[in-house]
This record gives sequence, C-alpha cells and structure tokens, in this order.
Amino acid sequence: MSRFFIVACSAPSYDPGMSEINENESNPDKEEKQVSTRILIGLIIGAIIGLVFNIQFPDAPWVAWILKNVTGPIGTAFLQSLIMIVVPLVLSSLIVGVANLGTVEHLGRLGTRLGLFYIVTTLAAVLIGQAFINTVQPGTGISVETREKAIESMKDQIASIEESSKKVKESLWPGIVTKVIPKNIIDSWAKTNMLAVIFISFLFGIALLMNDNKEGTQTVLSMLSAVSEASIRIVGWIMHLAPYAVAALMVNAASSFGLEVMKSVALYIVVVVLGYLTQFFLTYSLIVKYVIRLPVVEFYKRILPIVATAFSTSSSSATMPTTMRTLEKRFGVPESITTFSIPLGMTVNMDGTALFEVVAALFVAQVFGVPIDLMGQVTLVILVLLTSIGVAGVPGGSIPILMSAMASLGIPPEGIALVLGVDRLLDMGRTVVNVTGDSTAALYLARVEKIDLEGNLLTHE
Ligand code: ASP
Repeated sequence: MSRFFIVACSAPSYDPGMSEINENESNPDKEEKQVSTRILIGLIIGAIIGLVFNIQFPDAPWVAWILKNVTGPIGTAFLQSLIMIVVPLVLSSLIVGVANLGTVEHLGRLGTRLGLFYIVTTLAAVLIGQAFINTVQPGTGISVETREKAIESMKDQIASIEESSKKVKESLWPGIVTKVIPKNIIDSWAKTNMLAVIFISFLFGIALLMNDNKEGTQTVLSMLSAVSEASIRIVGWIMHLAPYAVAALMVNAASSFGLEVMKSVALYIVVVVLGYLTQFFLTYSLIVKYVIRLPVVEFYKRILPIVATAFSTSSSSATMPTTMRTLEKRFGVPESITTFSIPLGMTVNMDGTALFEVVAALFVAQVFGVPIDLMGQVTLVILVLLTSIGVAGVPGGSIPILMSAMASLGIPPEGIALVLGVDRLLDMGRTVVNVTGDSTAALYLARVEKIDLEGNLLTHE
C-alpha cells in the first residue's frame, strides 16, 4: 500500500495562508469578532428597515426604487462574489485536501464517517419535522377558499416551477449520472454544477495521491495551494463588506415577506420554525456536547458569521466560503478537514431542507385531505433523504424538488401555492440549519481526527 502514500511526506505542508495572514494583521481574532458583531448589527438594522417598508409603505414608488437600485445591487454584488469564488475555492482546496489525506484508506474512512453522520443528522431533522406536523396538523384548519385563492394567485409561478420540477424528476434517476459525471469538465465549472465539481476534484485528488511522479505532483499541489490561499484571501475581502451587504439583503427580504399570506398559514410557519429551532438548538447542541465535546454556548457564539450569512443570503453555496473561513479561524479546524467536508456537506447534506420538505408536503396533504398512511410517511422520509442531496444550495433550491416529491406521493403539486407566499422567510431558516449541520459535521471529523479543539478554542479567541 505504500504506493498509495501521497506526496504527504514530501509535499510542502498545506497552509492556505492563515499563518501568514495572522502575522500580517495586527490582531486577526479581535478583527474577526468585530466583523461578526457588525454583521449581526447589519442584519438587525436591515430587517427593521425592510419591515417598516413592508408595513408602512407597501406600494410606495420610492421604496420600490430603493429596493431595485440601491439595496438590490449591493446584495447581489455580495451574493455573486461569494458564489463566483466557490468553484476555484472548492476545486483547488478539495484536490489538495484529498491528496493530503495520506492514503486512499484514510479518505475512505473519513468519507464513510461523514456519510453516516449526514444520514443520522438528516434523519433526525426529518423525524422532528414529521412529529411536529403530524401532532399540530396545521393543514386541517385551512379553508377551501383560502386554498383556491392561493392557487389562483400563484398560477404563473406554479407553471414555471412545474417545468423545472419535470426536469428534476428526470434528473433524479438516471439523470443524476450525467449531473455527477459531466461530458465536459470546464462546462460543469461554468455552470457551477457542484456535484460534478466535487466529483472531478475527488478524482484528481485521488489520482494525484497515487501518482508515481512525486516531483510533478508536488508542483501541481503547491500551485493549487496557492490558488486556494488566494481564494480564501478574496473571501476575507468580501467578508469586510458583509455587514453592509447583509443589511441590504435583509431590507429586500423583509420588505417582500408576504405578511398578509402569513396570517392564513401562521400555524404552518410555527411548525416549520419550531422544527428548525429543535434541530438547531437540540440536535446540534447534543452533538456538540456529547459527540464533539465542546462548550455548547461557545459553539453557537462562534458560528455567528456562518448563521448570519446563511440567513441573509438563503444560499448554502454563497455561505460556503464563510463556513470554511469561520471554522478555520474561530475553531482552528485544519484546512485538510474543511476543504474536504464543507464542499461535500454544502452539496449533499441538507438537514433544514429535508425537515422543511416533510413539513410542507404533509401540510399540503392535510389541506387537500389526502390521507398519508404509515407506508406513505416512510416513503416520504426515504424520498426526502434522497432528494435533499440533489437540492441546489441557492435560494428556493428545494421548491422544484418538493413539488416532484409531492406528486410522487399523490399530493396535488399545485398545493405548493400555499407555501410559496411565505417561503422567503422559511428559506432563510432552513439555510441556517443546513450550514450548521455542515459545520457540526466538520467539527465531528476534526474530533475523530484527534484535533485539539479545546486548545484551539483558547488560542482562537
Ligand atoms: N436555500 C437552501 C440552501 O441554500 C436550499 C433550499 O431551498 O432548501 O441551503
């Protein structure tokens, strides 16, 4: 097996610039903390302004002008620049990350552990959602008029989602094959097709790890390390703009909340949010306390930049660079772990989305009086576990998938109209749960790999 030993022994150790950045900046940890507080302040101010716009000036032309010409472009610039950096960041750091794992066996061991962790946490999320929705039964209180009115007002939107939902159905199986294995590598990068980007990075990482030409391999790996270092540096620059961008994103989000619609489906919102909170505060804190063995409060305090970015962007993909950076800088998780587990988690591990899908599907079933027996409930769980893998980490990524899952269970897909009007808000919450799940998975791997997490918490104040 010694042939499988990579360059690990001979390659320059992979350090995407953190030590250098630390030396260069006067007090990076303090600065990191300040950015985190400023992001939170931005989030609150943005939400307040957005809600004032929504309630006080719902149809004012000047508000529409601000949303379109001021806050809109600021938010978009932030979102796009984060997404822009995802492919070079994942590609370079995942290849180096995989190649630096040492052996194919090590990679296999980590991969299996991560996979099991994902299944357990996603299953927990799904069961929590199912328990709440079946107990509270918010759908039984919705009148036929409300139902028909919602379907009528969302007609156009439903038609366009139906289109993509059809494509989703084909893309589940056997379509997933072409999603994972692209015909053209560059094309998959250009389309930010993350399943393919990850697959290609793994292939190259493993191949480099087995290369006989150690010298050539070393050169490629140090070049890729430099690309990864540069990408992380760019993320650092983008994060300096985060407080303002987060505020701008929140103004637009809060001003577009369907406050009127919310009243009619209030109980549904309560169930979804309760589910998110249970997964966020109960499942994850149990894992942090008993499996990862870290102080729970400290964990929540330190993931704040991740939570705020996810909440304001509603996109796991856009949050990925922040997630990696925060785990490295505030928890001391080594790059060899973040580069491996975060891109993977962002793509395949979606606890919040899985929870939301179960609740939304069963809610619509209740509204339409479609009985879902035990077999149906089990099928739904399996369906959601599998389909959440294919959900794109972008705002509203799960809606087409949800629609096709509903159709396969005999739940009228047009019922999606009932949940669409308030989805902006719920999307923010499920993205937070998604990225927190990915963060706990990375910390779990760090624990398994015997990284001194407690020591890191002290040194990374
Ligand atoms: N917005 C979610 C995410 O990026 C995906 C979804 O719509 O569930 O994680």
